[in-house]
Amino acid sequence: MGALAFENVGLTYTGSDREVRALEGLDLAVRAGESVAIIGPSGCGKSTALLAASGLLKVTRGRVLVDGDPVTGPRLKTALILQDFGLLPWKTVYHNAALGLEIRRVGAAQIHDRAMTSLARVGLADFADAFPGELSGGMRQRLAVARALALEADLLLMDEPLSALDALTREDLQGLLLDIWLQNGHTSVLVTHSIEEAVFLGRRIVVLSPRPGRVAAVVDNPGMGEREYRASAAFYEQCANLRALLAEEGALQTSALGGDAS
Ligand code: ADP
Ligand code: MG
Repeated sequence: MGALAFENVGLTYTGSDREVRALEGLDLAVRAGESVAIIGPSGCGKSTALLAASGLLKVTRGRVLVDGDPVTGPRLKTALILQDFGLLPWKTVYHNAALGLEIRRVGAAQIHDRAMTSLARVGLADFADAFPGELSGGMRQRLAVARALALEADLLLMDEPLSALDALTREDLQGLLLDIWLQNGHTSVLVTHSIEEAVFLGRRIVVLSPRPGRVAAVVDNPGMGEREYRASAAFYEQCANLRALLAEEGALQTSALGGDAS
């Protein structure tokens, strides 16, 4: 479960003095259990598309569907992970992991079980009583992942979740995201600026056009799915292909996208 579809989606922001067409004619179907990476120039509407998928923003045209049902608001089994972690600094690691469950009124025993299991899976069990301020950036993002795991989400939406991390921590977390996806089989949609990250984590890679965003190209990436892929010739070739495609789409000229900033 957790299949996601954008059908001819348009989204225009209406401000007091001007309108911004963020998305127009976006068509994309992500199968249940699939892992898709979305890459495109800065400002092309990637975050907008994820917020629409999570039910936090309403589309102005077309439809967004999860498992065939129109998205009208936040959904119990959809988790969203953002670059700035979305942690509450005054709550402990445990309570941050449990946050999504507490909001959703799950029973106390089940909350404890699920939060502790999730913290253990991301290697933070010993830090349950610490506060986010005592954690490194990588550990904070592990905590954000633990929160999504505790929800037992079948649709995991990630908006440049690793962009703020240093290169080694980032690779480590990419490995964690891969392992969790392989173990859980949830639907994964990752927005990233990084060509290598898209190739490491996306079984299909969707290239968006400059704003208003729509699908410019879809790249099949069958080699994805093992940590060793990163070191292979096929991986380098796929990165080179994707870089060329992005250049063709004009994505590289906008400066924000040109390789791995981390
Ligand atoms: P991306 O994530 O691909 O960088 P966004 O989805 O954040 O792009 O933004 C797409 C376009 O919509 C940009 O031009 C941005 O300035 C504009 N935009 C984003 N959020 C708002 C908002 N709340 N109000 C008005 N315009 C917005
Ligand atoms: Mg964005």
